[in-house]
Amino acid sequence: MKLLRTKSYINGKWVTGHRKFSVTNPYDQSLVAEVEDLSRDQCRTAIQHANDAFKVWKKYAAAERAAILRKWYELQMEHAEELAYLLTLEQGKPLAEALGEIKYGASFVEWFAEEARRVYGDTIPGHKRDIRITTIKQPVGVVAAITPWNFPNAMITRKVAPALAAGCTVVIKPAELTPLSALALAELADQAGFPPGVINIIVSSQASEIGKEMCANPLVRKLSFTGSTRVGKILMRQCADTVKKVSMELGGNAPFIVFDDADVDAAVAGAIASKYRNAGQTCVCTNRLFVQENIYDAFLEKYTAAVKKLTVGNGIDSAVVIGPMIEEKAVVSVEKIVQNAIDNGGKLVTGGKRVGAADSLLFEPTIISNAQRNMQVFTKEIFGPITPIFKFETEAEVIELANDTPYGLASYFYGSDYARIWRIAEALEYGMVGINTGMISTTVAPFGGIKESGFGREGSKYGMDDYLEIKYMCWGGVK
Ligand code: NAP
Repeated sequence: MKLLRTKSYINGKWVTGHRKFSVTNPYDQSLVAEVEDLSRDQCRTAIQHANDAFKVWKKYAAAERAAILRKWYELQMEHAEELAYLLTLEQGKPLAEALGEIKYGASFVEWFAEEARRVYGDTIPGHKRDIRITTIKQPVGVVAAITPWNFPNAMITRKVAPALAAGCTVVIKPAELTPLSALALAELADQAGFPPGVINIIVSSQASEIGKEMCANPLVRKLSFTGSTRVGKILMRQCADTVKKVSMELGGNAPFIVFDDADVDAAVAGAIASKYRNAGQTCVCTNRLFVQENIYDAFLEKYTAAVKKLTVGNGIDSAVVIGPMIEEKAVVSVEKIVQNAIDNGGKLVTGGKRVGAADSLLFEPTIISNAQRNMQVFTKEIFGPITPIFKFETEAEVIELANDTPYGLASYFYGSDYARIWRIAEALEYGMVGINTGMISTTVAPFGGIKESGFGREGSKYGMDDYLEIKYMCWGGVK
């Protein structure tokens, strides 16, 4: 594999650590690579380099930054097949899905290469006769990014592309379980011609030490995090002392509501797409499926038939649509969640156990009917291929149920009455609402949550805002 790199990338050089750790394939636990394990001191060095590089990079004309970003995008597309293969090896998702992620990831680089040229300021009518007011937007400075294992490529580009387009420099810490996609992106960034220190990648098994450095170091002016709400809260606390700007893309507990005037077949297809992508391990995956009582049985029958057709296995195999879960801990967690539902009166319709050996990370796509509010499937982010199906009677009831969570990331519903569509869309306390669709992620729309799902928006015309400061200039004495 031409893009397999095992060293970290700091100031345009490949760097070793004092030890190594293994990256394994979740399908069969085979060794994929031994990667260098970097320390907190090396993270500090990377931040220093990023700070030096910032002084140069911010002065590049927008068109110059755009040209290098564009080149990086083209290289990602040129190597899309290999990037996808590497992603499947370290993460497990089916190859077609991995290729989808690579294209999705690259699309942020393309988009923000274009947006780099559109960082406009304002001219504001002055508050006195001799005053003129203008604003400009400037890059915040060094950005630290911490990303999760479930999208080892796209969660990086979604942050890094707008940061670089704005004129910031970056230090990235990918997840320990999936560093290879990040390092492959660094290799392509090197080929694209970013100046040394503009992009730095620190691979480490010591997430909390690296996080502490990123949060405490005053040279870092912005922390962008995607991951769990638990870790997001730790990082926000740690950033308080240096009053950093922060963006938080955290966990979710997405409701998916099917009203009785919905196209049931379309709703089944939408729910499958939303629920079982990446073996249920995405922050926007359906967590709770609510179906109105008079179509509950018909929906359940069709949904069950569709779920039974999903093939589980090695992501490299083209027939497979659900790969392994990421690690043993994740499987144990979903096993407990399923058991908790059964113990509380849930009915196991299909699935419910591992596929194959006792230590396999493959888990059957599972449906639990008669799901209830007192179960963990209602309160927890499931992060696995389990659908709990709840029955509801009225619109008011389902809105109350859907919003009864501290999370507020993605939500979905199917129905056809346009007045109700507006009512429901406005009443859902979520940053994103899918209406008659189960797929909402796209470069051109603002991705992000409210409540304990975080704040900040990634992608779209809003995606640059998190990496820019507005400076206001007050011009006096204009007589
Ligand atoms: P996680 O445990 O919070 O880890 C995310 C990242 O934080 C990883 O790089 C991890 O490093 C690092 N980390 C862990 N503890 C840390 C600490 N004390 N200080 C600094 N960094 C630390 O989350 P995950 O299990 O990887 O990812 C799943 C979660 O991400 C889910 O809750 C999901 O909903 C959320 N997510 C949200 C979005 C969104 O856009 N809102 C997108 C994708 C995922 P190591 O892995 O190396 O330990």
